[in-house]
Amino acid sequence: MTRLHTSPYDRVRVVHDRPPTTTGQYVLYWMIGARRPSWNFALDRAVEWARELGKPVLVLEALRSDYRWASDRLHRFVLDGMLDNEQAFAALGVGYYGYVERTHREGRGLLRALANNATVVVTDRTPIFDLPAISRAGARDLDVRFEEVDGNGILPLDTPPSHAVYPTAYAFRRHLQRVLPNHLDEQPRSAALRLGDLPAPPAVPGRVRRRWPPADRRWLEAQTSLAGLPIDHAVAPAPFRGGFKAGRRRLAEFLASQIDEYGDKRNHPDDDVSSGLSPYLHFGHLSAHEVVAHVLRHERWSSSRLARTVTGAKEGWWGVSGSAEAFLDQVVTWRELGFNMAARRIDSEQFESLPRWAITTLEAHVRDVRPHTYTLDQFREASTHDPLWNAAQRQLLREGRLHNYLRMLWGKKILEWTASPREALDVMVELNNRFALDGRDPNSYSGIFWVLGRYDRPWPERPIFGTVRYMTSQSTARKLRVKQYLRRYGTSLL
Ligand SMILES: Cc1cc2nc3c(=O)[nH]c(=O)nc-3n(C[C@H](O)[C@H](O)[C@H](O)COP(=O)(O)OP(=O)(O)OC[C@H]3O[C@@H](n4cnc5c(N)ncnc54)[C@H](O)[C@@H]3O)c2cc1C
Repeated sequence: MTRLHTSPYDRVRVVHDRPPTTTGQYVLYWMIGARRPSWNFALDRAVEWARELGKPVLVLEALRSDYRWASDRLHRFVLDGMLDNEQAFAALGVGYYGYVERTHREGRGLLRALANNATVVVTDRTPIFDLPAISRAGARDLDVRFEEVDGNGILPLDTPPSHAVYPTAYAFRRHLQRVLPNHLDEQPRSAALRLGDLPAPPAVPGRVRRRWPPADRRWLEAQTSLAGLPIDHAVAPAPFRGGFKAGRRRLAEFLASQIDEYGDKRNHPDDDVSSGLSPYLHFGHLSAHEVVAHVLRHERWSSSRLARTVTGAKEGWWGVSGSAEAFLDQVVTWRELGFNMAARRIDSEQFESLPRWAITTLEAHVRDVRPHTYTLDQFREASTHDPLWNAAQRQLLREGRLHNYLRMLWGKKILEWTASPREALDVMVELNNRFALDGRDPNSYSGIFWVLGRYDRPWPERPIFGTVRYMTSQSTARKLRVKQYLRRYGTSLL
């Protein structure tokens, strides 16, 4: 079996184990998760097949219209990325077919039509949102060799013990500290592909182009509104661009001016030193490998600096500055903890997946008097009695992002101000996934379920929360710098 150039064979899952067809004209990379032209294990795998078979690579990047919460905001971000990808692949001599559905389910049959001429099909394996179901549906349509490649995180999803799900960040960190050294050298190709040795990609046949026309350039270039598409137009595009180019710029700015203060200041909304990378990671415009590699380069790191003992401690294992350790703990430990859960527990988005102690205590307090309760509409419109909560919700509405620390407070107050924890879960999921660019992610559910007790321990008992951790806006406002934040988001623009 052919292996990727850096041999992370544990990242490749063969879905249809057939020999490559001899008649196929190209290797098809069906790009559904890792929407970027480099730092991409699945693309590397497609190129590796192409080299072995002497065929070109064709990339299919499609955008459906009927996924839940589809809106101008989410579409715009993905379209920005499609423009970047189209340009990047053209420069590399790789075939690229960008397709955007104009009506619901219009795209059905496109994968099969392109796979008819393919020798092998490779796609991304990721537990994000509906992508596992999309890949399964695609597999039913394919009768060629079909592989899924996992480029989600530094630790491959299938790392043994294969069914282990970690109840706390501490437990997962201990596991990482044991096994991660074996994976730190596995890197997807970071530089532009060099495909001069491969044949030029063939043109996509006219009958395919007529039935599924390539994405309208005016959409890609944001020259026209998305009003004609059957998606939610009430959620406006965010005030920043999507795509791998914007993601890389954000990463470079973060490394140049924010990471050194991340350890001390990241909880303070006024300082806003967090990276803002989660939307780019979510849509696959940036790879976790790329982010971690750049952080380690910034720290002039080498593997000799890794601690030799496994303690599960948050700081000290990587052997970098305190700020970089704090950042790596978020982007590796916390991010991949969520991916581990999403990939291994089928019920990870259900209330019942909470730890038993959390369900018991929340249910024991379900009849407690709630001094304030709000409807979904009141939450959405930022019309609670609490200025800090309303400011956080306004940031989410306007910008599609929410300050990291305030996101915890935001969730805890929804738990306090709804009639039951199950209703709180529904409200958090709806608001987070509709308005946040990084929503619909394994870490959306990590964060939302953390509010309800996942990955946490029991705290002193109180009304409504039981022994689930409690937070107040008053103590947040006392402990953290929020004055400018309140000025910025404190009043409605409407
Ligand atoms: C109620 C609630 C909802 C959340 N919803 C989401 C969501 O929809 N999508 C999402 O990616 N994260 C979510 N989080 C986790 C966290 O708040 C965001 O990842 C973080 O705020 C993103 O901003 P950043 O990129 O500037 O983070 P930084 O602080 O710069 O961190 C770098 C990266 O580390 C990862 N990370 C940071 N904090 C966490 C965390 N607590 N859990 C998991 N990964 C983390 C993210 O990939 C992030 O981009 C949620 C948290 C809560 C409490």
